[in-house]
This record gives sequence, structure tokens and C-alpha cells, in this order.
Amino acid sequence: MRTSFKAALEKTLEGITPAREDLVTLLEATDPEEMNTLFSTADATRQRYVGNEVHFRGIIEFSNHCLQNCLYCGLRRDNKKLRRYRMTPEQIMKACDQAATAGFKTIVLQSGEDTNYSADTLADLIWRIKGKHDLAITLSLGEKQVGFYQCLREAGADRYLIKHETKDPELFARLRPGTSLEKRLDCIKELKKQGFEVGSGNMVGLPGQSLDVLAQDILLMRELDIDMAGVGPFIPSEHTPLKNSSQGDLYLTLKAVALTRLALPWCNIPATTALGTIDNRGRAMALGCGANVIMPNITPPELRRHYQIYPGKESLFDGQENLSALVQGMGRKVSSGKGSALENRLNYRTQIRKEGVSIVF
Ligand code: SAM
Ligand code: SF4
Repeated sequence: MRTSFKAALEKTLEGITPAREDLVTLLEATDPEEMNTLFSTADATRQRYVGNEVHFRGIIEFSNHCLQNCLYCGLRRDNKKLRRYRMTPEQIMKACDQAATAGFKTIVLQSGEDTNYSADTLADLIWRIKGKHDLAITLSLGEKQVGFYQCLREAGADRYLIKHETKDPELFARLRPGTSLEKRLDCIKELKKQGFEVGSGNMVGLPGQSLDVLAQDILLMRELDIDMAGVGPFIPSEHTPLKNSSQGDLYLTLKAVALTRLALPWCNIPATTALGTIDNRGRAMALGCGANVIMPNITPPELRRHYQIYPGKESLFDGQENLSALVQGMGRKVSSGKGSALENRLNYRTQIRKEGVSIVF
């Protein structure tokens, strides 16, 4: 007999590592009362372990060139309809200056897999940003060689985002031709070894994905002991082979966010742009069920619409005042710090000691 929702939630809360079948039971919940219980439990867990603050990370999408051909992504190399751009290091520096003036404490430099920027060019840029501003730097550049990551870490980069996308190796290989889950996971492990704070994550609602795979996604992030977890819906993108597939479901994504919070209480979890794109309440809802990070887009406005991973993201209203009002309206506080994973882990340890729980990851 299958475990009930209530029993699965109780077991997930008490367990060191949640059981896969319990996560599936919780993902299956469609009863509004059960979903609300899950969301409020995740919200309380977030409050207990990482507090009330919401961290803003300004994202600069500095190049939409990509040598990969992921079936789901509008930046894929075979999309000839996309107007490609690259920002120069000076343009990126200017965007960082503006971010620092606006009060951001973390910037995220993201691009397609673009070999046009050498490790030396990026290292020089990182070095200059760190010399000029008190900013944490997160990179999201895809799969690179060990030496490439090393060079950027030595230049002062703090964090790296690289989603595992899906725990299903066959689905991964089908959706990302020419690459493998194994290689992606090797990158994650290497980045951790080099001392980056590492963010991973997955897409919800990929064609061919089961709830069991979603449960495995959450368990994988726990096993990898990651610092940040980005969980967002898949959104079909024009000019890609998946343009006619269905979009990931809002509530299923929110359940996955909530369960990620329960499984990784110390993690920084963004209310993803993709959630905000499929529903204008999406980011607020994610903040209410475990998320504690928002990533406003600070790419120069004239370039933003060309970073077409999926449609609609460029119309998100990402003004800081608007987002601050949203956060404060929910009784939360906009963080004035960098919101490092180390701080979260220390808070988590202190809290579980106070609660008399003996587990430590
Ligand atoms: N190229 C780097 C990489 O793949 O890691 C960073 C940029 S990539 C555009 C950032 C993220 O966009 C991916 O990790 C993927 O999860 C997400 N993404 C791509 N296409 C998407 C889609 N159609 N719907 C939702 N998310 C998507
Ligand atoms: Fe390139 Fe990343 Fe898009 Fe894949 S997801 S096509 S690697 S930008």
C-alpha cells in the first residue's frame, strides 16, 4: 500500500535523507489543502534555517552565442533566427559598476557556451571587478576544462551555477546531444573541489520526465551537497525542436521547490525567472514555499530580448523597487549582505544543535 501524504511528509521531515517514494507521493499531491501544508512546511523550514532575508543577485547575460545544441534552449547553435551578441569586457564592467551602485552584492555572469572568451580574458575581468567592487561573483558559463575553472577561481570568482538539468541519463543525452550527465556531474564535482560555491538544479516538466525522476533530481542535489538549487519549469521555445511540447506545470514546480527546501534546508533557492515567466505570481509563490533568492535581470535593456532562452522572460518587470516591494509586502527583508552558502550552513548547524538534532551533512 502507498504511504499517505501525511505519513510521507512526516517521514520526509524526520529523515536525514528523504525516501524517493515519499518524495513521489508528495509530488503527486493535488489536493489544495495538502499542497498548502507542503508549502507552509517548506516556508517554515526556510525561516528556521536560512531566515527571513531575500538575496538579490543581478544577472548579466553577456553573450548568447553557444556551441551546444540543447533541444530545449533558444540559444542552441542551430537556431539561426536568433540575433547573436557578445558584450565586451568593458561593457560587462560598466554593467557591474551599475550593479554595485544600485546596491547589488552579488552579480551573476551568464552566457551560452561561448569559446570566444578565453580563460585569461575572463580572469582579467573578474580580477578587475573584484578590485573595484565589493561584489560576490557567480559564473554560469557551462561545461569547461578543469584548468579553465581553476583560472577563474584563482582570479576571485566565488560561485558557479551549472544545473544538472535532469537526473535521467538517457533523457539528458537526448536533450543535450553530444554531452552526458556523467560529464556534467564531473564538472559539478570539480567546481566543488576547487572551492566554488556550486549551484545546480533541474527543469520541471521536460518531455519524457516522470515524477520519479523529479524525486531523483532532489536526492541528487542532496547527495552532491550543493549550495544553491535552481528549480524552474521547462518553457517551450520557438525555433527549437521542443517548440510544440507542453510547458512545465506551475504547481508541480512549486512542489519541487518546496521539497528541495525540505531536503536541503541550508540551500540558497531562487524564485526562478522561469516561474515568473509562466505566471506573474510565480516568483512570489516560490518565495512563499521555500525560496530565498531573486535574480533580477540587469543585462543592458537593448540586449535583453536577444537572450531568448525561452519566450517572455524579457518582459518580466525586474525593477529593483518593484521586487523590493514584493519582498517587503510578504513580510520579508531584502538582504544587504552577500548571502553566502557558508553563512547558511553555519546557521543551519547552530539551529539543528539548538533543536538537539545530531545530524550534520
Ligand atoms: N550555457 C550555460 C548552461 O547551459 O549551463 C548557462 C546558460 S543556460 C541558458 C541557463 C539555464 O537555462 C540552463 O541551465 C537551463 O536549465 C535553462 N533553460 C534553457 N532552456 C530552457 C527552457 N526552454 N525552459 C526553461 N529553462 C531553460
Ligand atoms: Fe547553450 Fe546552455 Fe542553452 Fe544548452 S542550455 S544551448 S549550453 S545556453
